[in-house]
Amino acid sequence: MVKLTKLIDDAVLVEPGAKSQLRKRATLADDIFPDRDAAEEATKDNAKAIDALQDALWAERDRALLVILQGIDTSGKDGTVRAVFNRCGPLGVDVTPFGKPSEEELAHDFLWRIHMAAPKKGVIGVFNRSQYEDVLVVKVRGLASADVVEQRYEQINAFEKHLTDNGTRVLKFMLNISKDEQKERLQARLDDPTKNWKFNASDLEDRKLWDDYAKAYEVVLDRCSTAHAPWRVVPADRKWQRNAIIAATVRKTLEDMAPAYPKPDWKASDFQIT
Ligand code: AMP
Ligand code: MG
Repeated sequence: MVKLTKLIDDAVLVEPGAKSQLRKRATLADDIFPDRDAAEEATKDNAKAIDALQDALWAERDRALLVILQGIDTSGKDGTVRAVFNRCGPLGVDVTPFGKPSEEELAHDFLWRIHMAAPKKGVIGVFNRSQYEDVLVVKVRGLASADVVEQRYEQINAFEKHLTDNGTRVLKFMLNISKDEQKERLQARLDDPTKNWKFNASDLEDRKLWDDYAKAYEVVLDRCSTAHAPWRVVPADRKWQRNAIIAATVRKTLEDMAPAYPKPDWKASDFQIT
């Protein structure tokens, strides 16, 4: 497990301060998880372990974990939530999707809605999209001025430092799919009646802006992979590889946090249940 997570981190971590070189990063992870059955088994095992660790995190009620999922449409953010956290009790995991901000949200600073959704002590929070949309879609589609966007990178870093210093571990995953894979997944949304509901014509507009998004992501990875909250770029063309990488990383992070059940201030032998 330790060897595996080292192999994973060597492949996916964006070294703070280094160039992320997003365009050179793999969308397949055949060297880490060559076998589908084994990868799916590992994910199931890790999901179970995450549930047990989450239970202790809740009992301890002292710290939180925030898992941020970013990636272009169809990159698999929802599927990741399902695969990695499906064993956890619904009380312990708090999933928040971030769409277009409401009027109320726009009336506040961009981190307002994000901070409100940050997990409380004892909880694993999962963000499907996040504060990073405010330097991704907002930048690519020109929804704010360049000056406003420019100052947000540092603001995000400071915000994540604030969360970390106050007991929330921050894990950030960018789900990296190829343009060809996106084409297939978008086509499936048109062809498969059970996926039609996921199709959104504006996804095609974003697809036309593929290179602009890639550039914007690269800036995010270059500037916001910090020692306290580094980015991980996950090869995501194969769902089972993506799930296996993220499940192993979340488990390892929780194991490192080592949440402990609180010791009672009584002895069981002091009580008799009649
Ligand atoms: P989905 O994740 O497919 O439900 O789509 C959510 C949409 O909301 C995406 O097109 C995002 O780019 C968009 N979105 C999320 N956050 C923001 C934001 N801060 N400003 C503008 N659009 C956003
Ligand atoms: Mg969408």
